[in-house]
Amino acid sequence: MNVVETIEETRRALEQSRQGSIGLVPTMGSLHEGHLALLRAARAENATVVMSLFVNPAQFGDASDLAKYPRNEKHDLQLAREAGVDLVFAPSADEMYPPGFQTWVEVTELGEILEGRFRPGHFRGVATVVLKLLNVVRPTCVYFGQKDAQQVAVIRQLVADLAVEVELRVVPTVRDDDGLALSSRNARLTADERTAALALPRALATRDRDTALADLASSNGLEVDYVEVADFDPPVLAGAVRVGSTRLIDNVPLEGDTE
Ligand code: AMP
Repeated sequence: MNVVETIEETRRALEQSRQGSIGLVPTMGSLHEGHLALLRAARAENATVVMSLFVNPAQFGDASDLAKYPRNEKHDLQLAREAGVDLVFAPSADEMYPPGFQTWVEVTELGEILEGRFRPGHFRGVATVVLKLLNVVRPTCVYFGQKDAQQVAVIRQLVADLAVEVELRVVPTVRDDDGLALSSRNARLTADERTAALALPRALATRDRDTALADLASSNGLEVDYVEVADFDPPVLAGAVRVGSTRLIDNVPLEGDTE
């Protein structure tokens, strides 16, 4: 497995791979089984698998959230190697946002609802970094998790609106045995907070907004930011809660047999 930090090295490393398909899995590291499901899907469908590893400062509104974001690069590289990744692109913030950087991608409507209301600028950061990663790697397919359903909707819109030549693949949400959707942020939960957090997947599993809100209102130890039906493809019941200082999101598709 090749690990590179610059755009130039990434392009050079991929020169010989352009005849076959290239799968890109964008991540912010602290890999868990959710990321591994994306990597496995990419491995099964492509001749070359690229994983990006970049904690994107532009998608964090809150400096302390960025500072607290879990990082474990050594472990990530080992898991990536085991998953059969060919190339890891792990740029510095300066490589992605060099001095003078001033071009931003904004998906105006989809970026402003739900998560966008609570995290202004978040999807502008996501859309900008994803388009840049797509331009650097020029993959055949790019892989995202259903766990971040609004992110999928934003990227799907971006790809369509700007005629980006890539196929979007969406991988079902991977959950722990207790139902909690895997997230790098789960590592920050205490045992009590984790118990409280389980109310979110339980509430969403009712697939009914009002029932979910009532269930969450009677649960201890969490604050609800929103529970909404979102008209994505597929439609989802999506929710966000705060448990202590950790914010968690989750969703269940309302159509189809995806998780
Ligand atoms: P992150 O490192 O949190 O930016 O996530 C990288 C990718 O992994 C995104 O496409 C996420 O949607 C996806 N992902 C994160 N958690 C899960 C999960 N529990 N199941 C499936 N995909 C996930």
